[in-house]
Amino acid sequence: MRVLCLALLFVLSIGGLGHRASGGVLNASARPSVQRAPYAGPIVDTHAHLEAESGVTIDTFLALYDQVGVKGGWMMGLPWMLATDAWERYPDRVVPFLAEEYTETVAPQSVYVNHAALDDLLAGGYGRGLGEMILRHSPFRLAGGYSAGATHVPADHPSLLPAYALAGKYGLPVVVHQEAAFADELERALRSAPDTQFVWAHVGHGPAGTARSLLARYPNLHADLSARTPWLGPGTVLTRLDGTLQPEWAALLSEFPDRFTIGLDMFAPQHYRPDHVRNTVQYYRGLLGQLDPTAAEAIAYRNAERLAPFRLPE
Ligand SMILES: [Zn+2]
Repeated sequence: MRVLCLALLFVLSIGGLGHRASGGVLNASARPSVQRAPYAGPIVDTHAHLEAESGVTIDTFLALYDQVGVKGGWMMGLPWMLATDAWERYPDRVVPFLAEEYTETVAPQSVYVNHAALDDLLAGGYGRGLGEMILRHSPFRLAGGYSAGATHVPADHPSLLPAYALAGKYGLPVVVHQEAAFADELERALRSAPDTQFVWAHVGHGPAGTARSLLARYPNLHADLSARTPWLGPGTVLTRLDGTLQPEWAALLSEFPDRFTIGLDMFAPQHYRPDHVRNTVQYYRGLLGQLDPTAAEAIAYRNAERLAPFRLPE
């Protein structure tokens, strides 16, 4: 969520121009065409913020999903019981995650630092994943005035390590927002909880090389590709202007197809609109269509359903 750091905003204007130009300025010979058809199968949204403050209900989410072939999502509830309620109503389409306020990851009342309470919630099945945990987050400002400052919680904060371990005890994934510049902290967190599956939101907005280094060494690391689009993370978009995958990302996704997921990361009012959702999903379908079909399916939904299934085993 809330992905645009100030540095990215600068790139936004350049990227935006580039994307407009790609329609007519580039000549055909300069444009390696995207030969493969877009991926047409199911998608699971592993980065969905279901927040009381937004006023966006689970029914709105599912109506948007239905228009674009998204099967369901990991709902990061704020407060968390919103997601639990959504799951009770739509058990085949919702996995409830326990989220906290943007600036309250390690606040005294945060469920992530009240470990006995967290244990109870997880034992009771109220949450089936943690996150999005806001750790190291760049400041951002969106059009329309939606903005926030930076957050400075290191991924290896001592109060969070028991929460990671608890998630591992119950076999539940933890989605973390940690900018790639602080990958060393993430590495210590991964090492502290080797039985916990981590999902690195937005791949930390970092380069493929940083992700490869961690993925190769930590089998408990996964990453979502959310907010790496021309609209949400233009400075860290995964494709070239013509829609072809950046070669280093094509290589990385092909090398680790079982470790990535798709997320839509809607959080500002302008995101919950059919045109935004359609553009975003088309972008991911186009990207997935350039991969081996088995890899595309894994990234689109199989990894998500393995990490956090909609239905619990009977
Ligand atoms: Zn995020």
